[in-house]
Amino acid sequence: MQGIVYYGPNDLRYEQNVPEPKIEHPDEVLVDVSYCGICGTDLKEVVADPPNFFKQAGGSDPLTGHKPPLCMGHEIAGTVIEVGGNVTDVKVGDHVVIDPSTHCADKDRFFDSTLTAEEDCEECQKGLTNICKNMSLTGLGAQNGGLADKFVTAARHAVVVPKSIPLEIAALAQPLAVSYHAVRISGFKEGSTALIIGGGAIGLSTILCLFGFKASHVVCSEPSKIRRENAEKLGAIGFDPTSVKGDPVAELRKLSPTGHGFDYTFDCSGLEVTLQTAIHAAASNGTVVNIAIWGKNPIRFWPMDVTKHEKKLMGSMCYTREDFEGVLDCFARGDIDDERARRFITTVVSLKNGIEGGFEYLRDHKDSEIKVLITPNNHGELEYSKSFTRIHEHI
Ligand SMILES: [Zn+2]
Ligand SMILES: [Zn+2]
Repeated sequence: MQGIVYYGPNDLRYEQNVPEPKIEHPDEVLVDVSYCGICGTDLKEVVADPPNFFKQAGGSDPLTGHKPPLCMGHEIAGTVIEVGGNVTDVKVGDHVVIDPSTHCADKDRFFDSTLTAEEDCEECQKGLTNICKNMSLTGLGAQNGGLADKFVTAARHAVVVPKSIPLEIAALAQPLAVSYHAVRISGFKEGSTALIIGGGAIGLSTILCLFGFKASHVVCSEPSKIRRENAEKLGAIGFDPTSVKGDPVAELRKLSPTGHGFDYTFDCSGLEVTLQTAIHAAASNGTVVNIAIWGKNPIRFWPMDVTKHEKKLMGSMCYTREDFEGVLDCFARGDIDDERARRFITTVVSLKNGIEGGFEYLRDHKDSEIKVLITPNNHGELEYSKSFTRIHEHI
């Protein structure tokens, strides 16, 4: 079959002779992929040396025992075409999206796992699979991902999509689940106000999820005009922090309905200045959530900025199956609007042209592109996608 295969840093290849995946454990399902999104994490991984997720030359993932070459792709939507003997809650013909986080429960599926004899980690025992000590990611080194014609995972990672939700929308469930998790664990209350810092893909997903949680007022602080306009199209009020002469935080607070700051703030950028803004623009007793993944350098932080106003500062990491179900429920109920979500899909490209027309195109158009979906195009997906977005090839 065809696939986009990671061999090592700066060595990504489109291949037509990737071995067909097979169900090897009775908990598994075989998925015929329709769409697989790519994101900034994929772009960084392709050039990272040493890699952030894949194991370095010769090393294998401790949980799965797998090592490159492996297909990339972790934002996967498709149709189940075969199920293992133990699978009861997913059936052939179901549309599914994939929770790509592999965690302790997966170790039994892999003959080469070095963890088979160990008991599940403390976090998994508490149901916190998103912060599993052994977590790795499908499509980022744990096992073959969804940038391929087909792919195999455990049924526990396949979340059934109601047929009323188109598969290209379902392919957005993984990036949306990152944001949904952050909003959910913040304890967000209906009718509250929120500030998003950063209008990239995660910032925009967070805006959509906040409306899914019935936020009353959402502001997005973002210096890039094109990203700010994207945020405004999703219903947020755009703010350009470089446009003010004085203190941008004071101006931001004025954009909250009370003028005293926001109930919830979300840092989707990961810079000292953006976290400081998130802290200072939160109202007294407000909640500050860091979604961004940071580099290793520490920053200046004065605990009294949080303490004297009894603000809550917390972090959010990945997602659990519950977040995928939550996102799909929001779509099914109309709390996240299909048409607004579809605006995320700025390009659709075939697997065959996926490296140049997908990875390289996204790298070179980071501001204007939001979500690039790659399709094996085995069911006319490119022709269909012409009706709502830009297709990166002649068909
Ligand atoms: Zn991603
Ligand atoms: Zn675990």
